[in-house]
Amino acid sequence: MFIRLLFATLFFTHSLNAYNLYDNRIEDKIWKSGETLLGFMQENMLPLKLYYEMDSEDEKLSSDIRTTTICHILRDEDYEIKQALIPLNEELQLHIKRDDNQSYSMSVEPILYQSEKKELVLTLDDVLSRDIVAKTGNFQLSVELEQMFKKSFDFKKLKLGDKIVIFYTQKKRAGKFYGTQEINAAMIKSRSKKHYQFLAKDGNHYDSHGKATDTTSFIQPCKYRRISSRFTKKRWHPILKRYRAHHGIDYAGPVGTTIKASFDGHVIFMGTKGGYGKTIVIKHRGGYKTLYAHLSRYNNVMRDANVKKGTIIGYMGNTGRSTGPHLHFGLSLNNRWINPEHRITFRNGLKGSKRQEFLKIVKEYKGKMQILLKEG
Ligand SMILES: [Zn+2]
Repeated sequence: MFIRLLFATLFFTHSLNAYNLYDNRIEDKIWKSGETLLGFMQENMLPLKLYYEMDSEDEKLSSDIRTTTICHILRDEDYEIKQALIPLNEELQLHIKRDDNQSYSMSVEPILYQSEKKELVLTLDDVLSRDIVAKTGNFQLSVELEQMFKKSFDFKKLKLGDKIVIFYTQKKRAGKFYGTQEINAAMIKSRSKKHYQFLAKDGNHYDSHGKATDTTSFIQPCKYRRISSRFTKKRWHPILKRYRAHHGIDYAGPVGTTIKASFDGHVIFMGTKGGYGKTIVIKHRGGYKTLYAHLSRYNNVMRDANVKKGTIIGYMGNTGRSTGPHLHFGLSLNNRWINPEHRITFRNGLKGSKRQEFLKIVKEYKGKMQILLKEG
């Protein structure tokens, strides 16, 4: 009951109904592979006009709902939906609700969660992931740590007695770990050699000199006149007075501009994808995928074909829900959208003032790590 009350206070704060929590059930629903918002609405007999009247950006976001996303659903005695919360990313969610007149509305709202700064220092005495779980209860943290050091440290070389220090930001929602943790700084001291990774303001990790260890470098997929929309997971739109997210960069230019594969990979999707119109998705090594949307046409590319960085895969267009010819270019790492701009300007590392700023962060964390190691 405690959890239910917590859910109620955290997630249904915008409720119009003074419903009785004891008479209703809040159900955790897992978003299935291939499931669509329209399908969900049909299945639950929600008015489909909610979907068809959606703004084009929101509709595109709704086609990005991750498989295994946990949604919260509140039903009435007749099993009809009173409220549903469907996360679009870690920051925003769709809120479908029924008012006292039995009419439904849908809006995009921020997801409420708590953020905590945490630090972890441990001496290896089992397997790293088990040691991390034993100390934090958080398995995902060990997965992310390994991902971060993947190119610069061989985890098989760890031996008992090695030291690990992690500074991270942990999100919690309704008392449970939520979303991805942000590792701000990490050190592995193995065989008396120290290996570091630090988070820079651009959202990428670098070693203590500001060098990138994951040097996967994507090329800009097309020429353009202007960037009409940039990447954001949550932005308040002051004119529309609503929250927006945009999981990519929009490059505006003339119809027919050639679109190139941003990196070597193979085509895993080619076809119409909701509001994205004619779309190609390419899978690359290292857990990356790129998405090219609103194409006018494809260029002799086949599904499952291998493509090289720079291969022309299609042409800029205006298909799907688009207000003018542009390429919507998305980049994901381990199925989470990331800002492509940081990966295109990539690089061997940080330069100039960005590097100077980063080195200050490094110095600060190294000082804290020293103290923790002495105490541990
Ligand atoms: Zn876009």
